[in-house]
Amino acid sequence: MMEVRIHKSRLELIEGDITKQDTEAIVNAANSRLAGGGGVDGAIHRAGGPQIMEECRKIGGCPTGEARITTGGNLKARYVIHAVGPVYRDGRHKEPEYLASAYKYCLKHASEYKIKSIAFPSISTGAYGYPIEKAADIALSTVIDYLKSHPEIELIRFILFSADTYRSYERALSLLTEK
Ligand code: ADP
Repeated sequence: MMEVRIHKSRLELIEGDITKQDTEAIVNAANSRLAGGGGVDGAIHRAGGPQIMEECRKIGGCPTGEARITTGGNLKARYVIHAVGPVYRDGRHKEPEYLASAYKYCLKHASEYKIKSIAFPSISTGAYGYPIEKAADIALSTVIDYLKSHPEIELIRFILFSADTYRSYERALSLLTEK
């Protein structure tokens, strides 16, 4: 586990399973149809029960680089924020912009709903193929930037599912926070 202070808030990296988190919101790495799938998406719908999918169906979908919010069903978290990251092609199809934008949308929803604690998975780095080192740098710099002007968010956690992913985020965070 790694923990740093950013302005008035706390930023943590933890190796684990996001469905077990007790932050007010957890983020899902969803697809643009909000239709469920494998990876973290499947795990969240399995753990949270059918109510989340029912709400997703009503919302209908979400463009790449944006996010939509539902309740958390049976999860400990009160809300799930479904973020749609980009499928990685070669890095020249606005993938960095879309990835940063997906994180920003989640944070904007959090501020709007007065959510003080939020847990993120590593969006786009599973089935969507985003290179982990690049994705970790974008994810962390985007949330760090946001926290600097949004002290209302007290805690941001990244829940990394493997030791390798965790180490990549740890490296990226060290580079971003050392002087
Ligand atoms: P994407 O389609 O956006 O790439 P994936 O779900 O395939 O989404 O992968 C995103 C990341 O989520 C990967 O690092 C994967 O290992 C991780 N992951 C899978 N299950 C969980 C879980 N239960 N909690 C946290 N992270 C998870």
